[in-house]
Amino acid sequence: MKYEVLTYGNGALRTKSKTVEVVDEDIKALALDMLETMYAAAGVGLAAEQVGRDEAIFVVDILPAPDGHQYRERFTEDEIKMPLVAINPEIKERSGECIYKEGCLSFPGITANVTRPESVVLEYTDLEGKRQTLQLQGLLAEAIDHENDHLDGVLIVDRMSAVQKVMHKSKLKKLMRMNK
Ligand SMILES: [Zn+2]
Repeated sequence: MKYEVLTYGNGALRTKSKTVEVVDEDIKALALDMLETMYAAAGVGLAAEQVGRDEAIFVVDILPAPDGHQYRERFTEDEIKMPLVAINPEIKERSGECIYKEGCLSFPGITANVTRPESVVLEYTDLEGKRQTLQLQGLLAEAIDHENDHLDGVLIVDRMSAVQKVMHKSKLKKLMRMNK
């Protein structure tokens, strides 16, 4: 089932996520629906807040979307398994700094320069309910930092410089108005 992606101005995007107690069938179904939604919207990441849910879960996939937009295991050049479904994620370490031209499915039509870590150590629970640790670099580190922000109710607009905010002022206002 595909969800509608909520956009900037919707209050649900500002909620803080709640810890997932058990990885049961409902959580698995939510994760698969989030993947389907993300692939259909041609995004590389999606957090539960963006579909109006408050579970601490995000999905990331930096590879081209699979046929039919359904879950299919693939591997990146660094042999990281995609898609990454992170339940109760915690970023344990951040190192380096990179500026990325970033977009967000909740900010259609806007890309902004955002500073992100060059690499992160991510701890999370997978769909089997097992705790995992991954060291991630580059685009994956950026995506994970971005999605992790969503679970804290933090959005790219909070990470933009004053100049960027002025640049995108009218588009941001328009999105806000759409959600009134
Ligand atoms: Zn986002």
